[in-house]
Amino acid sequence: MYPHLFKPLDLGFATLPNRILMGSMHTGLEARPDGMERLAAFYAERAKGGAALIVTGGFSPDDAGELGPHRAQLSTRADAERHKVIPRAVHAAGGRIALQVLHSGRYGFHGNIVAPSAVKSGINPRAPREMTPDEIERTIAAFAASAALAREAGYDGIEVMGSEGYLISQFLAPRVNRRGDDWGGSLENRMRFPVEVVRACRVAAGEDFILVYRISALELVEGGLSADEISKVARAVEKAGATLLNTGIGWHEAKIPTIAQAVPRGGFAWATRNLKQAVKIPVIASNRINAPEVAEAILARGDADMVSLARAFLADAAFAAKSKAGDRAGINICIACNQACLDHYFIGQPASCVVNPRAGRETQLVFAPAKAKKRVAVVGGGPAGLSCAAVAAERGHAVTLFEKAPELGGQFNLARRVPGKQEFAESVAYYAERIRRAGAKIVLDRAPGEAELAAFDEVVLATGITPRRPDIPGIDHRSVIGYAELLSGRVSPGRNVVIIGAGGIGFDVALYLLERDARATLEPEAFAAHWGIVRERAAAGGLDPAGPPPAHPAHRITMLKRSAGAFGATLGRTTGWVHRAELARNGVAMIKGVEYRRIDDAGVHVALDGAQQVIAADSVVICAGQEPLRPFAAKHLIGGAKRAGELDAKRAMLEGAELAAAL
Ligand code: NAP
Ligand code: SF4
Repeated sequence: MYPHLFKPLDLGFATLPNRILMGSMHTGLEARPDGMERLAAFYAERAKGGAALIVTGGFSPDDAGELGPHRAQLSTRADAERHKVIPRAVHAAGGRIALQVLHSGRYGFHGNIVAPSAVKSGINPRAPREMTPDEIERTIAAFAASAALAREAGYDGIEVMGSEGYLISQFLAPRVNRRGDDWGGSLENRMRFPVEVVRACRVAAGEDFILVYRISALELVEGGLSADEISKVARAVEKAGATLLNTGIGWHEAKIPTIAQAVPRGGFAWATRNLKQAVKIPVIASNRINAPEVAEAILARGDADMVSLARAFLADAAFAAKSKAGDRAGINICIACNQACLDHYFIGQPASCVVNPRAGRETQLVFAPAKAKKRVAVVGGGPAGLSCAAVAAERGHAVTLFEKAPELGGQFNLARRVPGKQEFAESVAYYAERIRRAGAKIVLDRAPGEAELAAFDEVVLATGITPRRPDIPGIDHRSVIGYAELLSGRVSPGRNVVIIGAGGIGFDVALYLLERDARATLEPEAFAAHWGIVRERAAAGGLDPAGPPPAHPAHRITMLKRSAGAFGATLGRTTGWVHRAELARNGVAMIKGVEYRRIDDAGVHVALDGAQQVIAADSVVICAGQEPLRPFAAKHLIGGAKRAGELDAKRAMLEGAELAAAL
């Protein structure tokens, strides 16, 4: 099974047992007082799970390079002492770990940010200060000192973060580097900084130390490097002493999704192939590699020598070991939602995972064997019920999971019909498999009565929600469709569609109507064409200068809401912009602050700023939130049945796991 993935990789001074790298992720733990211990447990679990090499989240080499107003550094002996617990735990688990050295440059969110030139980024309200030549030399020395300290702390290597728009990217691209001295101007001058960083790190850490350079293989910003220029940088850092070349895709300010659900699986492996043709050292493919067959295909095609999976290891710490054992059905697949990982980081919460609530809570959410075996009924096979039934059964309880529909999945079965959300099918299949393996009984197509439930010691109500039907005159008009009806494919809406409600589901419905038959979330070529990405080697940033092609929407859509806030404000921090961009390019009209008057043959009548208005509609789709569905009273309520407002899969799955841990 997966022969390319499990072929050892000889680095000369060390041999990695397989081709799977756990890529760097911000965990939000780096700067916390208990962060080192929690990180040690988190990484050790993934090392035990078979990752050949782990890369930590970013640690800055100095104060100016910090990402925020906190301290996540490796720049002193005291830091090295604190870090020691991490490599020690990983080594005890049989793995290897490299420290990522990241200087944020103009992406830092604190008062002392620097860049090659004082050019502000569109995603940071703060402007950077231009670095002096002395400061540049000191920063190179700081990278080298971090490398030496990483070795002292016991790490097996470092990764120099040279992509995603951080300081090194800023030096390389003329869009930020406007310098007229030895560090700016020609490509040779602009790449002097990363080359000197790699050279200095190699000297400081010695020859038998893994030095990964994360290169921006595709910039996706105007004025970004071309593929030809990137190949030159790759050859230069190889010569300067890099052991491995990891792939970074897009600057953080790029207006093209790089890891969200809109990106097809393995969608950027072709960019790594360009690097592979330029250098002799092994190259690592990255982004949206979430399943072993995707990884194997990339290696088998010769696009890369290794693969980097990051979020996949949040979803399943044992991804590599299960792949090796050929246990594909036993792998909890990352669905690329970003909801509990990246979105958490940006609101200052530790990273976890929607489909694996234990991630990042390794020391808190412990599933110990049950002291007394109980008969547990879980009523409802949506996200909350699936999570609860799996954990409860694995703890040794005698679990029966009832689902009134003919298949498990609940709201996930609707979500998976939305373009890009096909991955939800993986979660349903995985949890169903876990529940079966744990010996629980699954009863489909039947809602249990209270008498039947009386035979159980514990009854958990996970019956989910029912869509809200707002009290608008004409709500029974033939043009009105519920979102569940629409997404399940039972009805075909007309050309003019009005969507009532603009939460996550309103946006999903609009996307479904606009992108239903598109292949952009499934095929790398279609994705590239959709977003205006080109493979010409001379194209700056890998972008078509004409931008993405015009949209030809099948529906004229108007979204309505009563409140005054911005549309899409409740969507995920790192993914909402993708949805907003798609809707904008398809000309979706958005009207806020409306009062609904009635729905009739003419469309939806609203009052707006005191004036009456009719919005023509062949179909009106109701996406006005949900109400809890509680067919009977029960001691344990989880997911939508407990609270429908702000319902999301993250809370549902966490509540299911937490309750099951306590039963
Ligand atoms: P929601 O986010 O609560 O949005 C409900 C929408 O309905 C609001 O825009 C609200 O707007 C409107 N509304 C509420 N009561 C109404 C009424 N009586 N009459 C008319 N309009 C009314 O709910 P949702 O869109 O159903 O999503 C449910 C949950 O699923 C969300 O909380 C979200 O976490 C999750 N979800 C997330 C995503 C995602 O992309 N991350 C996607 C799908 C679902 P006004 O009050 O302004 O009119
Ligand atoms: Fe993947 Fe979503 Fe889990 Fe993040 S929260 S690791 S994107 S499944």
